[in-house]
Amino acid sequence: MTSPALNILKDVFGYDGFRGQQQAAIERALAGQDSLVLMPTGGGKSVCYQVPALLTDGITLVVSPLIALMQDQVSALTELGVPATFLNSSLSRDEQDDVIARLRGGQLKLLYIAPERLVQPGTRALLGSLPIALIAIDEAHCVSQWGHDFRQDYLALGGLGEWFPGVPRMALTATATERVRAEIIERLALTDAARLVSDFDRPNIRYQVQPKTDGRSQLARFVSQHRDEAGIVYCLSRKKTESTAEWLVSEGYTALPYHAGLDAQTRAENQRRFLVEDGVIIVATIAFGMGIDKPDVRFVAHLDLPKSLEAYYQETGRAGRDGLPAAAWMIYGLQDVVRLHQMADESVAGEEYKRFERQKLDTLLGWCEITRCRRIPLLAYFGDELKEECGNCDNCLKPPVTRDGTEDAQKLLSAVYRTGQMFGAAYVVDVLLGKDTDRVRKNGHGELSVFGIGVDREAKAWRSAIRQLVVQGFLRVDAARFGALVLTKESREVLRGEQDVRLREDPVVVRSRKTKRSASRGEDIEIVDIVLWEALRECRQRLAAEHNVPPYVVFHDSTLRQMVNERPTDPEALLEISGVGQAKLEKYGETFLGVIRQGG
Ligand code: ADP
Ligand code: ZN
Repeated sequence: MTSPALNILKDVFGYDGFRGQQQAAIERALAGQDSLVLMPTGGGKSVCYQVPALLTDGITLVVSPLIALMQDQVSALTELGVPATFLNSSLSRDEQDDVIARLRGGQLKLLYIAPERLVQPGTRALLGSLPIALIAIDEAHCVSQWGHDFRQDYLALGGLGEWFPGVPRMALTATATERVRAEIIERLALTDAARLVSDFDRPNIRYQVQPKTDGRSQLARFVSQHRDEAGIVYCLSRKKTESTAEWLVSEGYTALPYHAGLDAQTRAENQRRFLVEDGVIIVATIAFGMGIDKPDVRFVAHLDLPKSLEAYYQETGRAGRDGLPAAAWMIYGLQDVVRLHQMADESVAGEEYKRFERQKLDTLLGWCEITRCRRIPLLAYFGDELKEECGNCDNCLKPPVTRDGTEDAQKLLSAVYRTGQMFGAAYVVDVLLGKDTDRVRKNGHGELSVFGIGVDREAKAWRSAIRQLVVQGFLRVDAARFGALVLTKESREVLRGEQDVRLREDPVVVRSRKTKRSASRGEDIEIVDIVLWEALRECRQRLAAEHNVPPYVVFHDSTLRQMVNERPTDPEALLEISGVGQAKLEKYGETFLGVIRQGG
């Protein structure tokens, strides 16, 4: 089957076929209709508006929240030979005038623009005088107050339909809860918008969640499996991003901090190095990531809990966009739970919003503690159904052992009750273990019947039990009272022996041997010809430097891999490789073919 859209996809982008709902989105845009495109991060949203942009006469506007994102997309398009540019505050007066002249002269197909810029009367007047073919609103969840990235400037985009009557609009996002979807359609005032939902599964991402014991050595073990690979480590505080980055550097990694407190120049430089150099780890607060579409991020690690399952999915979605194996790894502890509850409670938002935040946190915790396949409930949360266990998460790969924990739960709940429901986890554990501390003595708790009834287990096991009881609803952390543990209605059933409790045995951590990089990537390495692979990468690095773009803008790893495996020796064969289109064939074809012919 051929169609104009498919031809563009092949010739310009070098891809064989459409993915997910790309074709449907393109068809709707060409038919002049609105749509809401829901695709996971890395699913291929940009093709949905870039292809129609090339098939229509006028200009396609792309509303995008971040300058870095615009620059990246524009350089990628320029590499493909597509006339595109952006309009934002990073441009000088002269540069802006130049963009406007090119717009008026009909020389541009795509214009990326920040929302605050688009709504300015001057800009609206300018664009109103030009033939606008399509308006794409990227990261559309920024319009939602229930989402995790609300941006005031997005609200004004509700006026687009009036300012550009008859111009189809396409809202795109990876956010997937029903509430946010409905809100996007409403606030952007989309007309009869079709919801085009793609498969949210990212089968190449391996999810792993562990209880936090000693954060640093856990991280050390994890990153040692990813030497020389690019990754993102998320932490909650700015200070922690800096100390963690420093520590990783002392361990021999290239690691850079990123957070809103760094000056703009350092931030830009660290981001640039992450994009351009190989194997850089960025240690960031959540300020980092939106709009980073580096395809070869091999891991995303969370040292602290994210705000919600949705935020987690979004953040981990930055790993493995190229479809090659990637890891999403997280550790969490009771401290995180207390802190996040406190943050929700202390926020100035209304009661309903706070309740909503707490509920999101509980969903996330429930997911952390599950003992079954992680992918099934993760996708279910996003309205997607996975029929079978995934075989690529920690629980599938090594099913956790559970045991009858009713008696332990009773001991624990009694200790909470007897000490007056006024103490945090650490204190309750001290009482269970019969520790004769100053505080215990001062409170006279050494006299209690529960004092020392838990000596048969270690402190670690008790902390784990507390966490699991909280998640299962048998205990509650009262954030307003500094994390005091309190009983729930369900706890009483356990105490009365009417309700059984199952607890998971926390995995015993075995120190892994130092694995070489190739071994850790496991079965995915088909590349036997390391010499050619390295030569191609070197060639790419050189061309990228010449053209002043990140290496993956020249070709993705997956494209180079295919070159190694298939060894194309003429232009036709090279065109068959996914990621090689006409423009890149002309620009780079001969150079890469030369390397392949020489066999590296
Ligand atoms: P998103 O914006 O949804 O996160 P992108 O538009 O950045 O995703 O695309 C993710 C990756 O998928 C990119 O590397 C892109 O080149 C690739 N891609 C998109 N569409 C296709 C397709 N039809 N075939 C092959 N690769 C594709
Ligand atoms: Zn699984």
